[in-house]
Amino acid sequence: MDEKYCASLVLSGVGDAIGYRNGRWEFQTNPKKIWEEYQEMGGIDYIKVDSKEWRVSDDTVMQLATSIAITRDNGDDFEKTCQEITTAYIRCLEDMGGRAPGRQTLESLAHFTPGMKKQLLKWDELPYAPAGGGCGAAMRSSCIGLKYWSPDAIGDLIRYSIESGRITHNHPVGFLGAMVAALFTSYAIQQVPPRQWGTKLMNEALPLAKQYIEETRKEPNRTWENYEKGWNYFVNAWTSYLELRKIPFGEQTTTESNYPEFPEEYNYMDRDKFYHSLSFDGWGGSSGHDSVLISYDALLGAGSSWKEMIERSAIHGGDNDSTGAIGCAWWGALYGFTGVPDINYQHLEYRRELYALAKALLAQRK
Ligand code: MG
Repeated sequence: MDEKYCASLVLSGVGDAIGYRNGRWEFQTNPKKIWEEYQEMGGIDYIKVDSKEWRVSDDTVMQLATSIAITRDNGDDFEKTCQEITTAYIRCLEDMGGRAPGRQTLESLAHFTPGMKKQLLKWDELPYAPAGGGCGAAMRSSCIGLKYWSPDAIGDLIRYSIESGRITHNHPVGFLGAMVAALFTSYAIQQVPPRQWGTKLMNEALPLAKQYIEETRKEPNRTWENYEKGWNYFVNAWTSYLELRKIPFGEQTTTESNYPEFPEEYNYMDRDKFYHSLSFDGWGGSSGHDSVLISYDALLGAGSSWKEMIERSAIHGGDNDSTGAIGCAWWGALYGFTGVPDINYQHLEYRRELYALAKALLAQRK
């Protein structure tokens, strides 16, 4: 289990660093260029991920911050831990040079930073954000599923992941992305087969999330009236995806049929087109819903092949560092480092810190 915890955090960093490629790939609008450059390197077996050519981006720096906050004092005091998470997010901004942090995150954190805005807000006072559906919450929360991993801890998983998301992304598409990133990590640790994750999300987790949102209703920023449209958007996106891949849920739930179903031809260009079609504004992976959908699609298609996982999650035109970070966190939690070339992760920036935090999360897991 030690290895899977370490692999989840470390390989998430690797997926981030490869998708990002010091900004060159994250912001490359032509997917063909990314694919060709990747092929010219000789593919994943030849990529030495180090702290110069392949720095980690904001995704990993913020994942470190979430991990630090939820392991401090064992993180059992909910209110205090949410404050810790906020503080950790503000502090980590000092390490964002050349790492391309998100606009929504920066804007939201300014509300909690003395002197930045007219009024200093508490962690749960961020105004409802109509444009807060970005992937910035999802990309940093898979570690929550390492700590709250067991079926018995699902209540904690839901509240910590939703609140860690709402700190900066007070919009259902944003914070539900955070919940799915954490939830699927916990399923991986529980060894639930990935093909069942979508079903369990729809049948078990979303009803609990809805209940939590209702219980924590607060005027005027955290109301169902604000959330309803975004909630429906997120759920509809998942519904369409699961139907497309013939993954059953609701009344159709069965474990017997032969799913998921993929197109016969599904090369990098086909995938790119599909990822694009899932997106809100044409940039696959940049929102809370499509970041986790693309990561899930990559994982289902890759199976236990690391090479496939990297190519499907991180080598595409779009928010590929975030889909790499999220998808590879799940992959690592499922398969450990099996089949991953040493050069892909032995020299990863922050590798030692990620190992140490993985061990802390394992020691405190519930
Ligand atoms: Mg990034």
